[in-house]
Amino acid sequence: MKALVAVKRVIDYNVKVRVKADNSGVDLSNTKMSINPFCEIAVEEAVRLKEAGIVDEVIVASIGPKEAQEQIRAALALGADRGILVQTDEKAYPLQVAKILKGIAEQESAEIILMGKIAIDDDNNQTGQMLAALMGIGQGTFASEVKVEGGKVNVTREVDGGLETVALSLPAVITTDLRLNEPRYAKLPNIMKAKKKPLDEKTPADFGVDMTSKQQILKVTPPPERAAGIKVASVDELIDKLRNEAHVI
Ligand code: AMP
Repeated sequence: MKALVAVKRVIDYNVKVRVKADNSGVDLSNTKMSINPFCEIAVEEAVRLKEAGIVDEVIVASIGPKEAQEQIRAALALGADRGILVQTDEKAYPLQVAKILKGIAEQESAEIILMGKIAIDDDNNQTGQMLAALMGIGQGTFASEVKVEGGKVNVTREVDGGLETVALSLPAVITTDLRLNEPRYAKLPNIMKAKKKPLDEKTPADFGVDMTSKQQILKVTPPPERAAGIKVASVDELIDKLRNEAHVI
């Protein structure tokens, strides 16, 4: 059985995001980029399924600029077998990404499609759901446990007030939540080995996908600066300020 994992190149979660001076978007120049953390959890889960003998091959796909090769190589160093970069310099919106992933999943006959529940740059939380709908297959979103048994996958989901377990026939789309696993660190020998693993390059046109979007970003603005804090001399002064200045008690 093949597993397909979608990994997105995003600004590293430790980096302070800078907005461009003309408010047209986020400044990516000289910024550390990484695999979206939820995608890293998806890679880890696929590699664990391979180690458990359930999956034979883990394929990693990314849609983005040439530099997204770095994130594919990072996933290969974590244990994935082969990568596919669908190269585009256009902004990749969820619907187009889902259409391309559908093309890859069908070409590869992938049975398990693992992706992050959300990409931390655009906060869409849409691509997995769109992919499952386009393919007409089941989806287990916000997964905190994945068990593959007898042609089915049981996915435990984090829902309001507890956990829900759903059984999905394969192929299925699974999107990862934070508590699914703790991704391993890539060991140096595996980073070296990853450089030799196959990485195919494709274009959106290879999957018949037009990257022109029906959506346009009008403006990106940074959050308001927080005012500096102050030190108070006593509990009484704190209560006074909370009551009479902040008006929160
Ligand atoms: P989103 O719906 O944009 O929040 O993204 C959810 C998940 O879809 C991500 O964690 C990835 O697994 C996948 N995804 C979104 N955009 C891309 C992309 N450009 N390349 C590869 N995977 C993507």
